[in-house]
Amino acid sequence: MNKFKLILVVCIVVGITACFPSNDSVKSEILLQGHTMGTTYNIKVVSTLEQVKSLNLQSKIDSVLKQVNQQMSTYIPDSEISRFNHSQSTDAIDISTGFARVLTESLRLGELSNGKLDITVGPLVNLWGFGPEQRPEKVPSDERLAATKEGIGLAHLHLEGNQLSKSIPNLYLDLSTIAKGYGVDVVAELIEANGISNYLVEIGGEIRLQGFKHTGELWAIAIEKPILDPSGEQRAVHQVIIPKDNAVATSGDYRNYYEADGQRFSHIIDPATGKPINHSLVSVTVIAQSSMTADGLSTALMVMGAEQGMVFARENDLAALFISKTENGFEEQYTVKFKQYLK
Ligand code: ADP
Ligand code: MG
Repeated sequence: MNKFKLILVVCIVVGITACFPSNDSVKSEILLQGHTMGTTYNIKVVSTLEQVKSLNLQSKIDSVLKQVNQQMSTYIPDSEISRFNHSQSTDAIDISTGFARVLTESLRLGELSNGKLDITVGPLVNLWGFGPEQRPEKVPSDERLAATKEGIGLAHLHLEGNQLSKSIPNLYLDLSTIAKGYGVDVVAELIEANGISNYLVEIGGEIRLQGFKHTGELWAIAIEKPILDPSGEQRAVHQVIIPKDNAVATSGDYRNYYEADGQRFSHIIDPATGKPINHSLVSVTVIAQSSMTADGLSTALMVMGAEQGMVFARENDLAALFISKTENGFEEQYTVKFKQYLK
């Protein structure tokens, strides 16, 4: 058995250290950091320390992120999503505007991608029993796979305004593929509402940026090279991009995937087969205005694979970069719309 990690992380090229001014009223990049959604956030706002303090920005950010978790985290037993998942009722319930917003976009992208992005796929993820190393602990029988597939599908979910219902009691929603992006959007909107127009927001690798750095330069993002390195110590910049006033999301198996007898197992499921995806595409990066949209699309393209994904990206005029593993290393492909953001 051949086990290795393929590491590729989207990192912020502009350095993570804050350059606090000696004078509180001088504009600079103020760094705000914390934890949310089982990961970290790094936010840079071009402002004065005085303003950030008087706006109470960090505690406002923590409070909106807490609200997002209370709506959409399946790890919180009494979150809105958990209550919906555990309820056996098929009656419609009232949901919050935020939850409805994410569901609306998930359903739109689900339909657009012909079911490749499917937020009801959770029971299949569990069936494949991904352990702490993203390694399937068991290969399910065909019968169990077929039975589990019966219980998934966006057709069983109904949203009308803020009224949500399911037509099968056991339908299980999992927004983990889009919620981080939504969190980024909510924080970006909060920062703008507080009068700051130059910023960079990053939650667990999903990024949205606006305006300029304090030096007057545009924000730049480095996409790290995929390197076969079990220690994860080797890192190199694959591509620098200047996304302008947009969001950048990357989906991929790079963080931790398992390869056994030449077969790769991923935590991303193709709803059409009910099985983990198994192709040579290792990552997809999407640039779009909304982080939630970029996040969902990157996963949808990852499910499609390089060939079908590239066709879909072209047809839908998406800015997308695909990195595939080949016998001779890694190969990249991008759409015309992505090309404009390459440095
Ligand atoms: P990535 O960054 O690789 O896109 P995410 O963490 O955003 O990964 O999403 C992966 C998670 O999404 C999985 O752990 C699983 O819970 C869920 N998922 C897997 N396959 C799909 C799919 N086809 N559609 C929607 N969600 C999926
Ligand atoms: Mg994703």
